[in-house]
Amino acid sequence: MLRKLLLLSSFSYFFFMTCYRIVGDDDGGKLFTPEEYEEYKRKVLPIRLQNRLYVSWRSPTGMDCKLVGPETLCFCTHRYKQHKTDHEVIPKDRPVCVPCRVSRCPCQSYHYVPLNGTQPIRCRCKHFADQHSAAPGFSCNSCSKCSGFHSCFTCACGQPTYAHETVVETKEERLAQGKPVGQDVPYAAMGGLTGFSSLAEGYVRLDDSGRGPPSAELLESPVTSKDHPFLKAFQGPSSSAQTTSQIAGGSSATRQVSHGKHSEDEDMAYFENCYQERLKKEKAAKQKVKSPVPSKKP
Ligand SMILES: [Zn+2]
Ligand SMILES: [Zn+2]
Ligand SMILES: [Zn+2]
Ligand SMILES: [Zn+2]
Ligand SMILES: [Zn+2]
Repeated sequence: MLRKLLLLSSFSYFFFMTCYRIVGDDDGGKLFTPEEYEEYKRKVLPIRLQNRLYVSWRSPTGMDCKLVGPETLCFCTHRYKQHKTDHEVIPKDRPVCVPCRVSRCPCQSYHYVPLNGTQPIRCRCKHFADQHSAAPGFSCNSCSKCSGFHSCFTCACGQPTYAHETVVETKEERLAQGKPVGQDVPYAAMGGLTGFSSLAEGYVRLDDSGRGPPSAELLESPVTSKDHPFLKAFQGPSSSAQTTSQIAGGSSATRQVSHGKHSEDEDMAYFENCYQERLKKEKAAKQKVKSPVPSKKP
């Protein structure tokens, strides 16, 4: 049931690509005016399409154990999208630094640190990763014997955390190593995400950046009520475009998912739609505040 996996991953990829993604945090949480948005599209998007940086966490074997996405946490406890991910010109020096933009954060470049399930991992000084300073050297804030964060926590690839490195590279640099680069996309802070399957942890990624194909058991497992509605919608002959449209939230969404087409023009049209939707919603919300529905007094 390869189909199940493909649907599942394209689903998560699709939802991840919400309207929000195109501006990321660039609008500071408040919506751009239409003029600002136009200006933004003209100025920022071409830069982003050309100068994307791919961020991954690489094992000494050369495998990307983690592809960093917008929400992936940094050692400094901030997310990748809170770092300087857009560069008008990609610096010549290597490694390329991706410093944190959160005020007073001492992080000089994005540094991935894995979790142990949902728990932070420990340093050999016994203190957790987040008890260490994000400034270069990563010294411990809770003890004086630590010579800088160093964790023996074993990654699923079998190598200890300390043997991995966070790699920031350009499209050309990745292509030269035969690593996947995905399509050129206008979304903010995409990091290392390269396609439908990149959001999945390494073992379910099918591209060669991952840990290989999933087990036959996983692929053969039937779709159950516990699976995502998207997956269920595609099961059985009765799956209709309407169901998909309701779940995915728009007709262009349906088109993208069902045809697997993903051209840039379609993306832009989709985001344009989303933006208009968001504008509408915000207007509606404001009107509600202005004229609250009178409520019965007890
Ligand atoms: Zn930070
Ligand atoms: Zn950081
Ligand atoms: Zn310590
Ligand atoms: Zn330590
Ligand atoms: Zn690994």
